[in-house]
Amino acid sequence: MIFDLHSHSSASDGMLSPLELVSRARAQGVDVLALTDHDTIAGLEQARVAANDCGLELINGIEFSCLWARQGVHIVGLNVDIDSEALQQAVGHQARVRAERAEQIAARLAKQGIEGTLEGARRLAGEGVVTRPHFARYLVEVGAVKSVNVAFKKYLGAGKAGDVKALWPSVEQVVEWITQAGGVAVLAHPDKYKMTRTKLRALLADFTAAGGQAVEVVSGKQQSAVTKELSRMVSAAGLAASCGSDFHVPNQPWQELGQFGGLTEACQPVWHLWGDERV
Ligand code: MN
Ligand code: MN
Ligand code: MN
Repeated sequence: MIFDLHSHSSASDGMLSPLELVSRARAQGVDVLALTDHDTIAGLEQARVAANDCGLELINGIEFSCLWARQGVHIVGLNVDIDSEALQQAVGHQARVRAERAEQIAARLAKQGIEGTLEGARRLAGEGVVTRPHFARYLVEVGAVKSVNVAFKKYLGAGKAGDVKALWPSVEQVVEWITQAGGVAVLAHPDKYKMTRTKLRALLADFTAAGGQAVEVVSGKQQSAVTKELSRMVSAAGLAASCGSDFHVPNQPWQELGQFGGLTEACQPVWHLWGDERV
């Protein structure tokens, strides 16, 4: 069984429509897919139709941006009730935060001499939510930088002019939204935060105290030493383990749908929490 519990569509910063994403997941041998777009559930309806058509099991998901110790972290909600009041409220809140943030990013980039980025990022986002990769793609489009990577390094990454994060909700708030929506809160890709192990343990403690239940022990293709160390930490903290590709774009083999190492036996799979006993 392949569970891929972290992926993105064009409803946020992914390149594929929800329909294309589901077909690609099926072709890659994924049995259970969670669509976890950034702060939106807008892609889930189309993904649900496509999944029913091809016999793929779809989990309703979302990836929330939040703040912990003044650092941006991501928390995935799995198996959330998309009609619940809590989730509707959460999505509304995040939409307002993202709109405000996009304006602030654009104002800061304008101070650096790059005009028109808000309109550009909005156009590239289409009907989806505006994210930093949309700003990055616009900067590439107008020739301000050579690549999306350089755009993050120069303008949008941590500590750069376009890094606006003060508006995000707390870890506690996000876990509460997910829990009230009947879902499981999963701390996403801990290795990406580049924290010391001591700091990560402190984050896990706060996350657990808030009601968080699982951690993404496997995020795309990663070194097995990372998987082993995270597995140990997560089991020791009494948390369940999740796995996913964090797929955004075709032709990025390190985050391809379904293509990652499995969970170690020491871990309790997150899907056991909602009564799916398969391994
Ligand atoms: Mn993304
Ligand atoms: Mn993320
Ligand atoms: Mn993601």
